[in-house]
Amino acid sequence: MSIAVNPLFAFDNSYARELEGLYEPWEGAPAREPRLLVLNEDLAAELGADVGALSTPEGVAILAGGATPAGAWPVAQAYAGHQFGGFVPRLGDGRALLLGEVIDVQGRRRDLHLKGSGRTPFARGGDGKAAVGPMLREYLIGEAMHALGIPTTRALAVVATGDDVVRETLLPGAVLSRVAASHIRVGTFQYAAAHRDPTLLRRLADYAIARHHPDAADAENPYLAFFEGVVRAQASLVAGWMLVGFIHGVMNTDNMAISGESIDYGPCAFMDAFDPGTVFSSIDHGGRYAYANQPIVAQWNLARLAETLLPLLHADADTAIAAATAVLQSFPERYEEHWRRGMRAKLGLHDAQAQDVTLIDDLLALLQAQRVDFTSCFRALAGAVRGDAAPARSLFARDPAAFDAWAERWRARVSSEAAVPEAVAAAMDRVNPVYIPRNHRVEEALTAATDGDLEAFRRLLDALAEPFDERPGLESYATPAPPGFEDEYRTFCGT
Ligand code: AMP
Ligand code: MG
Repeated sequence: MSIAVNPLFAFDNSYARELEGLYEPWEGAPAREPRLLVLNEDLAAELGADVGALSTPEGVAILAGGATPAGAWPVAQAYAGHQFGGFVPRLGDGRALLLGEVIDVQGRRRDLHLKGSGRTPFARGGDGKAAVGPMLREYLIGEAMHALGIPTTRALAVVATGDDVVRETLLPGAVLSRVAASHIRVGTFQYAAAHRDPTLLRRLADYAIARHHPDAADAENPYLAFFEGVVRAQASLVAGWMLVGFIHGVMNTDNMAISGESIDYGPCAFMDAFDPGTVFSSIDHGGRYAYANQPIVAQWNLARLAETLLPLLHADADTAIAAATAVLQSFPERYEEHWRRGMRAKLGLHDAQAQDVTLIDDLLALLQAQRVDFTSCFRALAGAVRGDAAPARSLFARDPAAFDAWAERWRARVSSEAAVPEAVAAAMDRVNPVYIPRNHRVEEALTAATDGDLEAFRRLLDALAEPFDERPGLESYATPAPPGFEDEYRTFCGT
């Protein structure tokens, strides 16, 4: 039974209005005893929502999914997806709902979505629920990514439901409310392409163009221009992940948003010691979604998107395939360009020079050979520009001479920059974070939160909100996990 309350959000519902066939109307399950654990006040303000009203019992009931806010048109979205390479024609929101879209204070259309709000027609064998730990994890990682300047969905709130969730043990239940540019996934296109209604794919593509790539509408071939827009956005996004050592963990096509935002933080984690083969997810046995594979997988997923678009690209199949392939093949070059520019910035190099590629590759080889902490190393290099190389050098304990040889080449290259050393170092500090969500810190915070103590979570969230500003008292958030932790660390998808 849903209750209408005073409007908290000025909803519009273009997805539900325009994309019949791509959702099931549905409502959330009531929570036994909803309690607000964390509310993103900055994001609420962006949405033009009243923080006070969101914190009232009526507001919390809405954030828990048990009450439908006025103006919302809640739907469970339909999508398909390749999961670890295998196609599943019907996935969809098994435990999530799109409440509607909110036009934010800057005029941007943003989805408001709930996760953990009960079983839907897409639930298959699932219970429709989510636990406190994984929902706070999504909150935390999303805020960290946002502060790092990487496009991401963001959590508005996490509400404890007061219900138990049965996993390996009994866990406290929770509902996450999430804000996204949209929840249209590669898998949404896969679902539409396989649908018996042939107009559905075109309606979806037109909708996605209008919402995410409006310029494509004026192109000679709007659907090809749209595909190119998605390719561009993903090349930039995945380069952003790689530059901070982020591993998504489950890059299935249903977890890739065509908006170019990072979405669905499940078994994701940040890498400490640099190793291209790093995998944390307990279900990723083959290392399909390992750190270094992410650009390759992104392109694979984009190929799946291209396949769905073929009928829209050209009446002649060969012509359509040739056009899509040309755009798809631009991905590696676009990705490399973002990545190289990002890596140069991390090393304090402004203009591109031919030698930069080997300088970057040689540093990464050293990091890997000596198992050096990725984040600490880049941050410490700014110190070397300021005249103190000792902290950076100390990270290469196994073979400091190898670092010295590299650093000499690098310093010579930096001195060819037009900017003075302090300006170079300051620019490096703006792209090399001090604080990332270190796995041992995340686990510590979530374990305590699951036991009812949110103090560590709040402190960690606070550190991650300004990742580039070193602050006294937060030293312990900047250090890697104790030796051995990463080797054993596993993240779980059964969230
Ligand atoms: P995810 O691994 O969270 O990206 O989810 C993959 C698919 O499984 C999506 O269709 C989800 O809606 C569905 N799913 C995951 N967990 C549950 C659950 N507890 N109950 C129902 N559906 C779920
Ligand atoms: Mg998902």
